[in-house]
This record gives sequence, C-alpha cells and structure tokens, in this order.
Amino acid sequence: MLIDFHTHPLNHRYYYDGLRPETLTARDREDILGLLALGVERGLDAIAVTDHDLALSGLWAAAEARRLGLPIIVVAGCECELYHNREWVHILALGLKAPLEYTPYTPAAELAARIRDQGAVAVLAHPMAYSLAAYHSLKTVVDGVEFRNGAQARRGAADFTAVLDADGYRGLRLCGSDCHWPDKPAPEQWAARTEMNEAEFFRLFGGGR
Ligand SMILES: [Zn+2]
Ligand SMILES: [Zn+2]
Repeated sequence: MLIDFHTHPLNHRYYYDGLRPETLTARDREDILGLLALGVERGLDAIAVTDHDLALSGLWAAAEARRLGLPIIVVAGCECELYHNREWVHILALGLKAPLEYTPYTPAAELAARIRDQGAVAVLAHPMAYSLAAYHSLKTVVDGVEFRNGAQARRGAADFTAVLDADGYRGLRLCGSDCHWPDKPAPEQWAARTEMNEAEFFRLFGGGR
C-alpha cells in the first residue's frame, strides 16, 4: 500500500490562533474532501489527516470517506506540538478514535501513553528539524519516527535514515508529505510517502477493506 502519513487539509487555519474548534465549517469540509480527492488522484491507498493540534478534521475525514465509499482509507490523526527539553517538537498521533487531551507542556511520555490508550500510534515528526538530542530523548517514547518529510525535502533536508541506521533504530519508520492544503505538493514533497504491506497497515490501524 502507498500511504501518506502526514497531511494538513486545514493548513494553519486554527493552529496559529490557538483555536480548537468543536465543529467544522463548510469551507473546512470542502478543503478536507479536496485533499482526499488529491490523494485518490495521486494513487494513494491510505492517507493520514493530521492537522495541527486538531483531531476533529481527521475524525470527520475518516467517517466521511467511509460514508461516501471513497477509494482511499483515512487514518484519523493530529500533529501535537510539545515543548520538550527547551525545544518545540511535533508528535504525530495516528489512528485516533477521539480527540486527545494535552497541552504543549504535557510530558511526551504522557502524551504517547494517551495516544496508545486509543490504540493509536505515536510518531516523532520530522526529527531532522530538531537537535539530535531531541531524537535521542524521544526515540524510546514514541512508536516510530518520520524518517522522511516532504516539507523538509522541499528545503533540502529530507532524510533521517542514516541517523536511524547508525543508531540501530528498530521502531516504525514512516513518512509523509506534510502537505498543507491547498498547496499542491511539489514532486519531491509528494514522493515522501510510505510503502507498507497490507497486513502491517491493518495490524497498526485496524479495520479491513
Ligand atoms: Zn510539524
Ligand atoms: Zn505537519
């Protein structure tokens, strides 16, 4: 399966204002469906919807994709921003069933536990954007690492594989475009997607076709 594990259909709409809306507007819904249609057009089998500190869009997208019978599986998620050891870091929660409770000052281990309580997966987003110390302090807290990130690829600093290999990292290795709708991802950004076998995908995220 081809999966994009990191997308933002609502771009920075609520994030920069620190808002956590409880309902989506008509425009929000239109943008989410636009991103899903792009995912289908790009040949993805599944797409994670991971807006900034907001699970609502992903949860709605997953339900709507099922209701409409879209030919793409939606993994509901969000990208959580935490202040960790004097650095801002992002942790992707993938496979959420409900919104997550946390603040930027929730300890990373506690956030990861809350993510796992939902049967979801915690992934360190774009580790190449932080100090190496951040990776080393979080690698055993999370279930996986985003070894490649499309938005970082656009800035020329894409791949964390060499660090993971040198460190003998045994957790999940995922990647995603980090596409911020309606920006159409450049080819190198869209190329940041994960190939995963079906059994592994359904073991992690449940369900089935
Ligand atoms: Zn991020
Ligand atoms: Zn992101």
